[in-house]
Amino acid sequence: MLALAYDRSAFYRRTFDAAGFHPRDLHSLGDIERLPMIDKQTVLDNLSDMCTRSTNGKDVDFGSTGGTSGKPLHFYLDAGRSYIEYAYLTSTWERAGYRLGMPMAVLRGRIVRSDRNGFLHEYDPILRHHYYSNFHLNDENMERYLGHLRGIGPCMFHAYPSSAHAFAKFILANDASGPGNVRGVLLESENVYADQLADIEKAFGARVLAAYGHSEKTILAAQCEYSRNYHVWPTYGYFELVDSGGKSIREAEQEGEIVGTGFINTVVPFIRYRTGDYATYVGEHCEACGREHTIIRDVKGRWPQGGLIAADGSVVSMTTLNVHDDTFRSIREYQFHQSTPGKAVLCVIPTTSLDEDEQRRIIANMNKRLQGQVVLDLEIRTELLKTARGKQPRVIQKGARETGPAQ
Ligand SMILES: [Zn+2]
Repeated sequence: MLALAYDRSAFYRRTFDAAGFHPRDLHSLGDIERLPMIDKQTVLDNLSDMCTRSTNGKDVDFGSTGGTSGKPLHFYLDAGRSYIEYAYLTSTWERAGYRLGMPMAVLRGRIVRSDRNGFLHEYDPILRHHYYSNFHLNDENMERYLGHLRGIGPCMFHAYPSSAHAFAKFILANDASGPGNVRGVLLESENVYADQLADIEKAFGARVLAAYGHSEKTILAAQCEYSRNYHVWPTYGYFELVDSGGKSIREAEQEGEIVGTGFINTVVPFIRYRTGDYATYVGEHCEACGREHTIIRDVKGRWPQGGLIAADGSVVSMTTLNVHDDTFRSIREYQFHQSTPGKAVLCVIPTTSLDEDEQRRIIANMNKRLQGQVVLDLEIRTELLKTARGKQPRVIQKGARETGPAQ
């Protein structure tokens, strides 16, 4: 990939030369650290110079990352990459029980048209994918989705974590027995919180597997069959984790930014690309499964997330707000809306109804947890905010810095 970039891309020829680096100088993996890192802004500023060939051909696709208020990133990639990617995805999904040809129920931001009976479902007979609309997750629709899902035989459930969680809460609230035919649940494209995992596992009674990837296709990682840690696919891209000063992290328990050098995209090489995503380094060898792949945990995507901003400007992370006690026993879903540091609104969808005592109890519990750093008000909603791609961030910051979500 370095040789291709050096030979064919004006941008990389320039930056390699400036760094005094030639691809034949790469003798060990560490040598790549002699090259500068790039980021989203680099691609925004230099896209045409970064290309290794004409982008007019049929062998080139246009790619982009989403973004609610952030600037979307546009780039090009090989039209032929899809089957390579599909191979990575299916072998990742196999860790959760997927087999090629198995039907898949999908709740992932697709615009699904309703049939003549108002049922929001579409079917792709080649992939055997059943698409349901995650923009319309009300009780009536979820009941229909569930009824239909029960009839499609042994299958996988592929969803955004927020959508799978809404569905799980519906199952738990209405029907103690899950669909029964779901062999595994696949979660991608949003942060996954511990309380969501617990509810999803309970509702579906199936293995839940989270994976990390992004539209720029530099890094793909997925959870181990035996632990909550993620293994980075070493043949998909070269993985680095760097601290705030850009130095490589090799010590366990250190958190850093994910930097990727992708092997999939030969039209616009992404070399030492700062993804804006974060993870904690674990090691290189997994005792549980025996893989000699880089292991990371607590993957935090750049998609709208962050935390709540306290009056003093510090950030209260969502991890500290993971609620494992009975505070949310009568809440189906929740989302924080913040426009002023030190204050936020906790928007909730109740399971049935919330009387005033219950509302006071929830707010008192949460404010105690926040220790005065952020003072909450409660608002009852029937719907929470989603991005254009159907993702449902846990925190909505109005007027705050935000970059686009992956995939
Ligand atoms: Zn493992």
